[in-house]
Amino acid sequence: MDVERKLQLSLFHESYWDMLPPEIQEYIMQLAIAQMRIDAERKERMDRLCHEIRAYARVKERWGLGHVQCIPEKTLCRSCNYHHLQVYGILVDGVNVKQKVFLGHGMWDAFTSIDLLKPFL
Ligand SMILES: [Zn+2]
Repeated sequence: MDVERKLQLSLFHESYWDMLPPEIQEYIMQLAIAQMRIDAERKERMDRLCHEIRAYARVKERWGLGHVQCIPEKTLCRSCNYHHLQVYGILVDGVNVKQKVFLGHGMWDAFTSIDLLKPFL
């Protein structure tokens, strides 16, 4: 669409906007604001999920001996009010699980303790 046509359309819609009663304008603006908040929350949740997936991939790469199992703790953390993860590294022998090694509470804890634990396996 060319610029002139866009300008014509926006002027056309602007005139309709001005014709709306103020309470309807107010209502539409509040809907738009509510939608922006929903979008922002959704984006934040998506960012958090992507962050967790990247952290998992880094832990699994550093572990390198099998898969990594994450189990949410049953009780809420007293200080941050979240369920933390118990992260285990699985040592496999062919297809059988040879050993299940506790790596830490949460991805960062697991990531930092892998290098300390690996020499003892
Ligand atoms: Zn906590």
